[in-house]
Amino acid sequence: PGKQPAGEYAPQAEGSVTTFGHVIDGREVPSADGATFDSVDPFTGEIWARFPLGGKAEADLAVAAARRAFDEGPWPRMGRRERQAILTRLADLILEHGDELALADTRDMGKPITQSRGNDVPRTADNFRFFADHAQLTAAEALPMDSGHHAYTRYEAAGVVVAIAPWNFPMMLESWKVAPALAWGNTVVLKPAEDSPASATILARLALEAGVPPGVLNVVHGYGPDSVGEALTAHPDVDRITFTGESSTGRAIAGAAARNLTPVSLELGGKGANVVFADADLDNAVAWSVRAIFTNAGQVCLAGSRLYVHRSIQEAFLERFVAAARAMVAGDPKDPATQLGPLSSATHHAKVRSYFESIEAEGGTILTGALADGLFVLPTIVTGLAEDSPHQREEIFGPIVTVTPFDSEDEVVGLVNASPFGLNAMLFSENLSRAHRVASRLRVGTVWVNCFFIRDLRAPFGGVGDSGVGREGGSFSREFFTEPKAVVMQI
Ligand code: NAD
Repeated sequence: PGKQPAGEYAPQAEGSVTTFGHVIDGREVPSADGATFDSVDPFTGEIWARFPLGGKAEADLAVAAARRAFDEGPWPRMGRRERQAILTRLADLILEHGDELALADTRDMGKPITQSRGNDVPRTADNFRFFADHAQLTAAEALPMDSGHHAYTRYEAAGVVVAIAPWNFPMMLESWKVAPALAWGNTVVLKPAEDSPASATILARLALEAGVPPGVLNVVHGYGPDSVGEALTAHPDVDRITFTGESSTGRAIAGAAARNLTPVSLELGGKGANVVFADADLDNAVAWSVRAIFTNAGQVCLAGSRLYVHRSIQEAFLERFVAAARAMVAGDPKDPATQLGPLSSATHHAKVRSYFESIEAEGGTILTGALADGLFVLPTIVTGLAEDSPHQREEIFGPIVTVTPFDSEDEVVGLVNASPFGLNAMLFSENLSRAHRVASRLRVGTVWVNCFFIRDLRAPFGGVGDSGVGREGGSFSREFFTEPKAVVMQI
């Protein structure tokens, strides 16, 4: 067991506001200049937590701590089995502290507690367990050569990894990056999104408790542009940058990284197409389509926000789909009965509201949905929008789905592939040949057939086009977080 974070800054509750620090070199610390920012609970509208606002100084300190821990510390040097044991202990601690972690994400960004507690916490723990096992168990190639030589591959830790995360699945997406990076022996500086910083801090505390040495997992708080995020991505002493967020931010980060030739992995925006063929099992298609667009109030990169339904079944589909959307329970995200929480922040709500308010001007018809009190947007189903409308082309990132009829397989493949995004698509069909055929023709990183969001951590995950560069998962994460080295021996 390692140390609890210590230092001049002890986390405490100030009245009803909980304060958190950066975690740098195993200590929980404020910013050098004392600057802070607040996290507002989007349901209550009240400040619930306060964080230090980091800048270049904190980026430098955190990268230096990670560099020292990589160059001199035990983490990259210890046996894989030992790292596996520590990360497995961390997975156990994540489950033990599941209530605290889930509440942190729910208060930061309004996600229903059933999702943060029931889905995100166990998946975060699973991610640590999976990558700990994967790094311990995967073999490296050995290649006997005709010349009598023997070539083999060593997967060596890359070094200092900067991980920058979005707010929509805070701890879960952070763990997709932190777990493989740590499992392969790297050290990490994690910058959570400014709208959801709490769970990352708790995770760093738990990592120390599990025995991850100081400096191996550092967490710094602040914004992106002109702030700690930009300072981290421009830092010359960083070996990898892994980013999940908007496509425009991905472009800025790729530009910053290019100046130092730092390899980047970019998981970016999406505009998931959801295709329901005439031969679909309608009940199954409706159930998954509801989850695909309304889970987490549509704030999912993979959201099935473009729904294409075969014209012959559109009426029957819509009748059930609209009824299911209307039946969703909106409310306090801390209430286990709630299925739809508020949007994550006032700023994000303003963006989604502007899309909602322009639906009719763009020629769309709202079958169900409304702006409600506070930051709520009720499940919204729209028909009649043209393919070139902003709603159909841009990522809204809210509970708004556009429904468009199609007549033929060729036509719908063209519609799906016309998007600049290429993260994922869903197909609903009981025809096996059609499912395979269409899956092979789509320009996306993941195709789900008769389901949605089912993930095997060995499979590649990532996007095509504006949806990203690179893949995460199993050996794909290994490729990114290591420097594969060839050793050629004369026998
Ligand atoms: P965002 O791009 O606004 O912010 C993401 C992170 O980047 C934040 O931590 C932010 O502070 C930081 N950042 C912003 N500008 C920066 C800069 N110039 N330099 C360094 N860091 C910077 O994204 P968001 O609003 O937090 O998240 C929503 C977006 O994330 C959506 O587009 C969604 O599709 C995408 N997303 C993608 C995936 C995926 O796996 N492909 C998963 C989840 C979310």
